[in-house]
Amino acid sequence: MAFYRAPRGTQDILPEDQPYWHHIQERIHGVAQLYGYRQLDTPIFEDTALFEQGVGETTDIVEKEMYSFLDKGKNPITLRPEFTAGVVRAYLEHGMHVRPQPVKVYSLGPCFRYERPQAGRYRQHTQFNVEAIGEQDPAADLEVMSVAWHLYEDLGFKELSFQLNSIGCPKCRPDFLKVLVEYYRGHIDDICDDCRRRLERNPLRLLDCKAESCQPIIDAAPNMREHLCDECAEHFQTLLGYLDSLGRPYTLSHRLVRGLDYYTKTVFEVWAEGIGAQNAVCGGGRYDGLAEVLGGPPTPGVGFASGLERVVLTMKQQGVQVPTLPSPQVLIAHLGEQAKLMGVKLASDLRAAGIGALISFGKRSLKSQLRQANRQGVAFALIIGEREAEAGRVAVRDMAQGEQHPVALEDVTTWLSQRLG
Ligand code: ATP
Ligand code: MG
Repeated sequence: MAFYRAPRGTQDILPEDQPYWHHIQERIHGVAQLYGYRQLDTPIFEDTALFEQGVGETTDIVEKEMYSFLDKGKNPITLRPEFTAGVVRAYLEHGMHVRPQPVKVYSLGPCFRYERPQAGRYRQHTQFNVEAIGEQDPAADLEVMSVAWHLYEDLGFKELSFQLNSIGCPKCRPDFLKVLVEYYRGHIDDICDDCRRRLERNPLRLLDCKAESCQPIIDAAPNMREHLCDECAEHFQTLLGYLDSLGRPYTLSHRLVRGLDYYTKTVFEVWAEGIGAQNAVCGGGRYDGLAEVLGGPPTPGVGFASGLERVVLTMKQQGVQVPTLPSPQVLIAHLGEQAKLMGVKLASDLRAAGIGALISFGKRSLKSQLRQANRQGVAFALIIGEREAEAGRVAVRDMAQGEQHPVALEDVTTWLSQRLG
């Protein structure tokens, strides 16, 4: 007999885990609204070329991680590995540049990356994605960073900090890259194979290599922030000033990069204690060149994405409590045909009045139905035995007190409404 399992790197989110997801999503919508971000949903798959262009052919995502296939019409399709490319595509497609700028949107949904699964790293994961498109003010960088921060504070995270860097712009980065490449050529025998390739194809990404042997070389590597042009330096200083005035802790890190020309200036991550190697709960930054790469007019933008599985992991490891989800507080127990008929009708009336109700199925003893009521943790069992059915009433059992009151069938809804609030 076939026995199937969820594909490697995917997971089922069982009912007992849903309180985390509901709570996080509820806070996401709440925080986004506080800052004036509106929801935008884009398709789960897009043309493959959108990601090749919009994420970049020399990134890990495009080189190794995309779920790409030809559909039955032979169209190259990719399950989205991230949101930004699709969101900017939607901005251009719907002519949003004529709306008041910046256009501030957020999205929530699954992303797909073919990665080696481990804690906090999956092949299907869920992102909360935030973008402010059409604004170059560093106050917009601060704003998206604040949305992330606000959310994590709301969720009760401890030990939060920003990792922060500037990777300059197409004016100042090329000179820096020359210095960086020259430095790395001097260490060519000590670096990993991936880095030898990066040196040729995408040298900025040398700085975020995770290989152990490359770490000392990165530590001593030249720093982009010492090569910023006046505009980029001023942008960065202004952002730091804002962060200081809000008292937000940050660590400057020259290793934090996004290796493509259309990623510009600010790059940041939020790290939270508790999830080990995968401690970035969010990553983001500026992409002032992206809209043009996708065929639109020059349009600055800044945003971030947060992986919600890592958020859930962090909450669990930090022992954050979440509200339980409401469940029915009433179970209807019945004995005999006539009682069951009354029970079915009563369940329907209660639900219509907004009172969650369970009814037991089949023919079981009252004792077993009350055991079920106990297990379900309901506040009241409504017992309709043969005598109650004859008399048109219900024995209402308060499960905590163990007391029982007779209540006329037509009064049950009101009686329960008063007690359940
Ligand atoms: P990492 O360095 O951990 O691979 P990344 O730089 O690839 O992260 P981004 O592309 O910036 O990540 O994605 C934004 C966020 O999405 C990450 O900070 C992380 O919280 C989450 N994320 C990315 N990839 C995965 C994954 N495979 N599984 C779970 N969450 C992920
Ligand atoms: Mg990654």
